[in-house]
Amino acid sequence: MDKIKFATVWLAGCSGCHMSFLDLDEWLIDLAAAVDVVFSPVGCDLKTYPDGVDVCLVEGAIANQENLELIYDVRRKTKLLISFGDCAVTANVPAMRNMLGSSSAVLKRAYLELGDVTPQLPDEPGIVPELLDRVVPVHEVVPVDIFMPGCPPSADRIRATLEPLLKGEMPVMEGRSMIKFG
Ligand code: SF4
Repeated sequence: MDKIKFATVWLAGCSGCHMSFLDLDEWLIDLAAAVDVVFSPVGCDLKTYPDGVDVCLVEGAIANQENLELIYDVRRKTKLLISFGDCAVTANVPAMRNMLGSSSAVLKRAYLELGDVTPQLPDEPGIVPELLDRVVPVHEVVPVDIFMPGCPPSADRIRATLEPLLKGEMPVMEGRSMIKFG
């Protein structure tokens, strides 16, 4: 049987969900034996999201143009997309800037009003991705197959979600241990 093609993606998040993934500790060895890691900031050095991915954990909200382009690419090339953590599921902390109303208001506040030394707007087209006016959760942009909340989801929850998938079964995302936020 072909190995599952497994990916993880880091959008607008703090990387805490990926740190929790690394907390799987020795089970990562079992996971590595069962899957091919084809894209991941913590497990693979490819820069382009490949075709034919079976399962992808998506950390973070959609906050800028780069996130938007990547999530469309991920959805097009992935069978089962998992919203991984509260930022992906609800937009969470990254969406706190939404209360300022627009990307220009956010940039002005962060880089001009609060800039102690040489206040200036970051402007490097093609290098600094353009902010979206609103930060949104993943499912507002593309369909999501499994929601795994948590800030971050515990290693136990990550394992309980992935283990059934390795056997070709869907995880049961019910109960406090699987879907409690925070
Ligand atoms: S859900 Fe929490 S741990 Fe995960 S990226 Fe967001 S803030 Fe970080």
